[in-house]
Amino acid sequence: MAEDIILSANGLTKEFKGFVAVDGVDLKVRRGTIHALIGPNGAGKTTCFNLLTKFLSPTRGTIVYKGQDITSRKPADIARLGLIRSFQISAVFPHMTVLENVRIALQRQRRDSFNFWRSQRVLDELNGRARELVEAVGLSEFMDTVAGELSYGRKRALEIATTLALDPEMMLLDEPMAGMAADDVDRITQLIRRVSRDRTVLMVEHNLSVVSTLSDFITVLARGKVLAEGDYATVSKDPRVLDAYIGA
Ligand code: ADP
Repeated sequence: MAEDIILSANGLTKEFKGFVAVDGVDLKVRRGTIHALIGPNGAGKTTCFNLLTKFLSPTRGTIVYKGQDITSRKPADIARLGLIRSFQISAVFPHMTVLENVRIALQRQRRDSFNFWRSQRVLDELNGRARELVEAVGLSEFMDTVAGELSYGRKRALEIATTLALDPEMMLLDEPMAGMAADDVDRITQLIRRVSRDRTVLMVEHNLSVVSTLSDFITVLARGKVLAEGDYATVSKDPRVLDAYIGA
């Protein structure tokens, strides 16, 4: 059913000086699912991701989000529509505490950013909501820790909290497990599962065990094109996918 598709790319293409990094990609992300974009190095995953969040403009093709053509929209407009990209490390202020970081993200969501001259009632409410989000991502004991002192995995959990503060309908996660220790991977996997219950998630991820645990649907890219699609059991058995990984 067409209304189940929250985000779609149609014939998405990106050329860099004649080199076609993303080549006519069709992608359909169903509402409420965790959708993974995988593929060997150089497949075009990051470029595709940057196109979908409008950090790059496509050479050809269209992107439709909730029935609206967003191909020519700016990243900030897209964020306002509820499509939020996480894991931009810059989104975390290293000299502020975990709680302050989340509170600022909440203030940004309410568009009264940096207006600290608020009534006590509003401040209390913001702090309460910020605390809930910090607890939701498992950082309760680090509430007053300066963000710069957090371990890498916990920083990423904080990034998820600041992203959730923006109340995204759809989250795009760029390699959420990159550079993480095994216990952090488990923690963030659980967290993504929890936060995705009433949201849609599209992620680029290299860790195939995470992809197999979390994903409802997978699109495999190779040389800029969609090579295979389906659930993990289907794509992991596809000889073309095995070839692309081994040959990469
Ligand atoms: P992946 O994320 O799957 O590893 P990328 O999207 O980063 O793949 O890259 C796909 C291809 O496009 C690679 O061959 C890469 O070298 C090329 N590419 C990516 N960005 C640029 C750029 N800004 N200029 C030229 N080539 C690029």
